[in-house]
Amino acid sequence: MSPPSASDVPSTRSQRHRSSGRYSALRLLREALTGHRGWRPAWRKAEPRKEYQVVIVGGGGHGLATAYYLANHFGITDVAVLEKGPIGLGNVGRNTTIIRSTYYRPENIRFYDFSLGLWEGLEQELNFNAMVSQRGVVYTWHNDGQRDHMIRRANDMRLAGADCVELDRAALKKLIPPIALDSGRFPVLGAFMQPRGGTVRHDAVAWGYARGASEAGVDIIEHCEVTGLRQAGGRVTGVETTRGFIGAGTVCLAVAGHSSHLAGMADIRLPIETHALQAFVSESIKPFLDVVLMFGAGHFYISQSDKGGMVFGGAIDAHNTYAQRGTQWIAQEVAAEGVALLPDLARLRILRQWSGVMDMTMDGSPIISKLPLEGLVMNGGWCYGGFKAIPAGGYTTAHLIARGVSHPLTAHMDLARFAEGRTVDEIGTGPFPWAH
Ligand SMILES: Cc1cc2nc3c(=O)[nH]c(=O)nc-3n(C[C@H](O)[C@H](O)[C@H](O)COP(=O)(O)OP(=O)(O)OC[C@H]3O[C@@H](n4cnc5c(N)ncnc54)[C@H](O)[C@@H]3O)c2cc1C
Repeated sequence: MSPPSASDVPSTRSQRHRSSGRYSALRLLREALTGHRGWRPAWRKAEPRKEYQVVIVGGGGHGLATAYYLANHFGITDVAVLEKGPIGLGNVGRNTTIIRSTYYRPENIRFYDFSLGLWEGLEQELNFNAMVSQRGVVYTWHNDGQRDHMIRRANDMRLAGADCVELDRAALKKLIPPIALDSGRFPVLGAFMQPRGGTVRHDAVAWGYARGASEAGVDIIEHCEVTGLRQAGGRVTGVETTRGFIGAGTVCLAVAGHSSHLAGMADIRLPIETHALQAFVSESIKPFLDVVLMFGAGHFYISQSDKGGMVFGGAIDAHNTYAQRGTQWIAQEVAAEGVALLPDLARLRILRQWSGVMDMTMDGSPIISKLPLEGLVMNGGWCYGGFKAIPAGGYTTAHLIARGVSHPLTAHMDLARFAEGRTVDEIGTGPFPWAH
């Protein structure tokens, strides 16, 4: 597929800029002098209406971002986001906060790099401090074959317009003094780095998009679980919920690990498996690591939070589950890999461990697509990496809903690719049945 031209990619500038500017230095000073009594909730707690033009199921990052862009960039404000619990407690609030566009397939690199660009302007767009930190993401390599593979990936990134630099051992040691370059089993031969990659405070992303969507007129309805999809005459007409039926012209599923479950309500089988992915945070320590570090000899990634905790994770748990907890053997594997790369980690105590339910597609690439029921669309199949995709995922899903056709950057993410043999193999990032 040829890359989208500038005219294919719609402007991301707001049609109506509704940010109230409530969060400013002046406002903070005024509130400080008056006892902080003037703050109002960031988003309205809306009650469900009988009907909406668009109902979005799932108040995670992608659902809230889709609502935000629909209302602020595509002029559709008759929108409800239905969330079964409080917003932001799904994967958007459980991930390790890494953003990057270091993918294999050119069409995926372009999509994730578009997302990186949106992250770069997000705090101004939302008037919300999301602590976007472009500290760089570093990948180690450990043998010649892996070097060739990673350099090819780096070249593909450059060809697709993403930034990437190679690091030799000396440069790596200078950048990351505690790294063990010569540990017996996995000597590090070199690395590549994406300087524009980094981290973002994850729950601020949910709050910022919720605030921006709510200000533009979107109803954010919490504690409202969708239990069924109603259809008539071959099209979706609304959703059954724990708070009654809500009619809709378009229903968008943005439920991450629950995608198969929700699509099943319309008798649609998705090529998605749900697995648990665990993460860990240590006690706070002094500044130790100021990049995001990925271990090429296994599946381990780590960064240091602004509070000082080391935040890290590894591979998904192998079995299918909707439980938001993981198994001990992955915890042990993650610890072993971490200590092989950064031996000082052995002295740390783990403060918390948690997991989220992941929507793993069979080719490792996401699905932003119409589903085979008129009026029903989905955003999901994010595998390991849907947090970094939230701005682009929200924007392009809003485009699909508003314009009725895929955004050029997500044309390859349609569901039909699985039936038609056009899978987009994002090497090794799908679930275990594939090429993990
Ligand atoms: C431990 C861990 C680490 C990760 N690290 C990274 C990372 O570093 N970088 C990265 O890019 N990605 C990462 N991810 C992946 C990323 O978090 C997810 O891919 C992404 O957040 C999924 O999109 P979402 O935010 O919309 O999902 P969610 O926040 O899970 O939103 C889906 C929402 O749908 C709601 N819902 C489900 N069923 C219903 C229903 N029937 N009715 C109403 N609401 C419903 C859920 O309650 C949930 O709030 C990680 C994930 C985990 C678990």
